Amino acid sequence: THDVQIIGGGLAGSEAAWQLAQRGFKVRLSEMRGSGEMTAAHQTDGLAELVCSNSFRSDDDERNAVGLLHHEMRRLDSIIMRAGEVARVPAGSAMAVDRDLFSAEVEKALQDHPNVTIVRERVDALPETGLTIVATGPLTAANLAESIVSATGQDRLAFFDAIAPIVHRDSIDMDICWIQSRWDKKTEASNADGDYINCPMTKEQYLAFHQGLLDSEKTEFKDWEKDTPYFDGCMPIEVMASRGIDTLRYGPMKPVGLDNPRDTTPEFPQGRWPYAVVQLRQDNKLGTLWNMVGFQTKMKYGAQTELFRTIPGLENAEFARLGGLHRNTFINSPLVLDRQLRLKEAGHIRFAGQITGCEGYVESSAIGLMTGMMAAAELGGQDWTSPPPTTAMGALLAHITEGAEADTYQPMNVNFGLFPPLHTVKKKARKEAYTSRGKTQFGEWLMNMEGIPA
Ligand code: FAD
Repeated sequence: THDVQIIGGGLAGSEAAWQLAQRGFKVRLSEMRGSGEMTAAHQTDGLAELVCSNSFRSDDDERNAVGLLHHEMRRLDSIIMRAGEVARVPAGSAMAVDRDLFSAEVEKALQDHPNVTIVRERVDALPETGLTIVATGPLTAANLAESIVSATGQDRLAFFDAIAPIVHRDSIDMDICWIQSRWDKKTEASNADGDYINCPMTKEQYLAFHQGLLDSEKTEFKDWEKDTPYFDGCMPIEVMASRGIDTLRYGPMKPVGLDNPRDTTPEFPQGRWPYAVVQLRQDNKLGTLWNMVGFQTKMKYGAQTELFRTIPGLENAEFARLGGLHRNTFINSPLVLDRQLRLKEAGHIRFAGQITGCEGYVESSAIGLMTGMMAAAELGGQDWTSPPPTTAMGALLAHITEGAEADTYQPMNVNFGLFPPLHTVKKKARKEAYTSRGKTQFGEWLMNMEGIPA
């Protein structure tokens, strides 16, 4: 017997399970991986597997919206943030993790919890009764997706996400590349000499590489995948290249703040900036795997290997994983969900995670956290008050449930554009103003909801 069934043991489902269990409620967590099922992007049976980048993005909670979301989740004892801290690897001002260690930490916490039962099973239809949280993510299995379509009456939407290649560290030529963070920025988690491996390119090399991206063989679009817009943070490198000759040099291949120590002149004794650069970021705690930052792609595997080995320093690169392409499933939340993420037509069912149309690991987890709290409040007979829209959680929730246009609804990362604007504050001081207002009001909300003082 359980109080709530959670379908999907990804980021959102794991967080929701933890929040409910910690408040004393019994959870059945149904996860299909481990029962002989897999999704197109997952590689393991582990709970809360990270399918692409190993980064939770910026951890700066004074100037950045996702950093503020980290802060709020930590204050609510998020299991995702807890496990993230244990599995943390150096990544400048970002928060990146060893993906295997991270997943194992989340799984262990839930496995050891007396209120959680993890069941390896695929669920094929929305349950008729009983409090349920659906957290099956962007790769929801087909039968359940059908069931959701018939319950909501809305057709699902789809677009692409693309995976960036991962390279074995010992196959990178460090006589050509060097380690440095842009502008030498560091945090406590940083390596002494910097967090990124930089592969320098001359103008000629860059132009040839750019042409190579345009000419490379791509994976064919399927009929149902045509006319689908790209999510900006995960735009394939070749699509970015097609937007203009210099688009990449202002994007992932930006060379500014990176001094190539092998290209010194009396004027630049520390080294000159290259014309363009490819950056790699540590992908596991051991430091053996590094991912090519911003190099998500839908190029064919053979074409990827061939072209990426023309990058200076990667001539002999061994790839632990090549880039890939995947669909994304999400519901039209502003139309079909109420403000507590319940299906308007079937109030016992809540949705959480990316399937609600938020975008990103942290956002998915944050929505999972809130659905867990909402379900716990409902079970405990308490009133639920949403965090105010001036907080990162509140802004995200408000966007999904009421703020977004249903007609053009698309997945959204947390950003200050979702917050009530602070026009009167000078632009330079605005980010700090958003976060400081958010923290104050989050503290007040927390005090009212949970009795947790600031
Ligand atoms: P998931 O973590 O996918 O969890 C859903 C779980 O439900 C899975 O474990 C799945 O096996 C299970 N499941 C599905 N159907 C059923 C069923 N019928 N019965 C039982 N279990 C089921 N976000 C980022 O921040 N950075 C990135 O780099 C990034 N890259 C991405 C790359 C790809 C290819 C995709 C698809 C998404 C990416 N995202 C990324 C977006 C998103 O944040 C992640 O997908 C995130 O994992 C979403 O969390 P979730 O809990 O909603 O879903």
